[in-house]
Amino acid sequence: MRIILLGPPGSGKGTQAQRLVHRYGIVQLSTGEMLRAAVAAGTPVGLRARDIMASGGLVPDDVVVGVIADRIEQPDAKKGFILDGFPRTVPQAEALDDLLRHKHLKLDAVIELRVNESALLQRVETRVAEMQARGEEVRVDDTPEVLTRRLAAYRSLTEPLIHYYSERRKLLTVDGMMTIEQVTREIGRILAAIEAADAKAAEKRASAKPAARRTVRKPAPKQAKSSPTGRPSAKKAAKAARKAAKRSSRGARKPVKKAGRKVAKKAAKKVTKRRRKA
Ligand code: ADP
Repeated sequence: MRIILLGPPGSGKGTQAQRLVHRYGIVQLSTGEMLRAAVAAGTPVGLRARDIMASGGLVPDDVVVGVIADRIEQPDAKKGFILDGFPRTVPQAEALDDLLRHKHLKLDAVIELRVNESALLQRVETRVAEMQARGEEVRVDDTPEVLTRRLAAYRSLTEPLIHYYSERRKLLTVDGMMTIEQVTREIGRILAAIEAADAKAAEKRASAKPAARRTVRKPAPKQAKSSPTGRPSAKKAAKAARKAAKRSSRGARKPVKKAGRKVAKKAAKKVTKRRRKA
């Protein structure tokens, strides 16, 4: 399974991704988490991302695409992954398409968690309070001011992905205002339907294969000589022409009569030459 979770900050992507990890045994690839780890470790990527993240802006596409490209290569991502927070711009989505195409991998679904913007601030405030209660370090960008900027970035740069993926028939929208349990169940239903459709398609392919092989082995040699347009191949046409010429020399058909005459004329010339010599 390869899934993208799409939604504004506070829509529940991280929570649902965690549940999918347990349910499907696939990895969660959260660019936010990866970038925070890079910032904490002080890597070159972290140094580039730190201030941008703190201000609620988006880290440059090339940086994030590089991070994801490396991560998808890891063995634990072979079975599948849930992308959470990536792609966040159309160029990122295009880069992901290229990455997957090169690896002959298919994206199964993009699940959009749709939520009322008015609920987001409250959700983030709750998240902050819960983290503080657990004694965890609160994200520097989880303040009302920065959240407003993150939402603005989402609207202008990430929301166009809804159109991008719906055009490609990948988008499935879930009401993110339901309870966590209900959202999980809904996503589960969607993914079960996708799995069932995939299994059916695989079955169809498997049952179609032996028949296809048979037709290739038996009557195929004849068909194979014809061009993809269904018209006879040049070789076949030449053979047919040769046959027709033979028939014509026997005077079987009109058009070849001409050829027959030519042959007769030539033969006659030869004969007269021979006669002259004699
Ligand atoms: P959010 O809760 O806002 O979805 P994330 O943890 O996914 O937060 O990301 C936090 C920050 O990391 C973003 O505001 C942004 O600066 C940076 N970031 C994460 N993913 C991307 C991405 N795909 N492209 C650009 N910047 C990103």
